[in-house]
Amino acid sequence: MKKTIIVLGTVVLLYFAATLIVPPYIESQRNPVKSPPPYSVSAEAQTVYDRLDFIADLHCDALLWGRDLNKRGNRGHVDFPRMREANVALQMFTIVSKSPAGQNMQSNSSDAFDNITPLTIAKGESPANWFSLINRTLSQSEKLAGFIEDEEDRAIFIKSKSDLNKLITDRKNNKALIGAMLGIEGAHALERDLNNLDRVYEAGVRMIGLTHFFDNKLGGSAHGLSQEGLTDFGKSVVHRMNKLGILVDLAHCSPAIVEDVLAMTDKPVMVSHTGVKSVLDSQRNLSDLQIQKIAANGGIIGIAFFDEAVGVPELPNIIASIKHVRDLVGVEHIALGSDYDGAVTVPFDITGLSLLVEGMMNADFSEPEIKAVMGENVKRFFLQNLN
Ligand SMILES: [Zn+2]
Repeated sequence: MKKTIIVLGTVVLLYFAATLIVPPYIESQRNPVKSPPPYSVSAEAQTVYDRLDFIADLHCDALLWGRDLNKRGNRGHVDFPRMREANVALQMFTIVSKSPAGQNMQSNSSDAFDNITPLTIAKGESPANWFSLINRTLSQSEKLAGFIEDEEDRAIFIKSKSDLNKLITDRKNNKALIGAMLGIEGAHALERDLNNLDRVYEAGVRMIGLTHFFDNKLGGSAHGLSQEGLTDFGKSVVHRMNKLGILVDLAHCSPAIVEDVLAMTDKPVMVSHTGVKSVLDSQRNLSDLQIQKIAANGGIIGIAFFDEAVGVPELPNIIASIKHVRDLVGVEHIALGSDYDGAVTVPFDITGLSLLVEGMMNADFSEPEIKAVMGENVKRFFLQNLN
């Protein structure tokens, strides 16, 4: 009996020790920065950067790793203090709920072992989240709500046009005010149940990527096996998203899904984090024809910062991707979609966004064009498309 208690006690103690040590270790391994901060740019670029009054980014997975986003982190890419330091007005925080072992760009099975399960357990999350994708999703949603609440009146959870208008107005006198939005990466999180769409809407989700790295009940992933388009269930999810006011994110979707959504949706779409095929011919990147169709739909395209989206070396290729979309369909369709904290290597963390301004200046972008890319387009897009 005594022996059993000692063994059990040791196991519990080891588990709690692991919850403190393992997630930070995994995060620092999975989210490196090529050149660490601080960053500096020319005085001219800094002046243009300082004149930006609305910087926005469409994709970061900072909620996944269990880090306290109210504190300035010494690992990863984004948290609230670093957003303020970079004068970022709005960040979309996306929820990853399942990720296949051996994840790759070409082909992943939905039956592969899920890497998020051990991470969820190692984070010390409630056992209710260990094997439930929807519970993991709702739990990360609550986490974001909690972080925002802890900021008191220095952060706003953006769920509506009026929240966004308040952010824009109040930031005129208070640059420390930041906005956070909530999205989902991969609608497998809904666990094949349309009712869960209403639950995540209630939790604050306003953007959903239909697939992630594997096929799900909605249809095929760009990195899956079937490459199929929207299923009937997928169509009913998109209809219900349009009705509720949740934006469709086409990042990671099969080309067939991109076609099907554009054919059926009455709302502009988003591609929250992507590259373009003409700069890097990767399975996750958009073709020129897709870019043109998305632009015709009034959609917005977030350019990601990591190697599988833009190639190496990174900054010049991020700029080349932005420039390609501008030259093809116009600057009004471009946004930042870093994929910060998305298990990716990036050239700089969020405090290095001024490097993009310098890069665009060197590529002869005008100041209004730079403003549009850095956040004005996102502001306009959400003012038009949030309820
Ligand atoms: Zn992604």
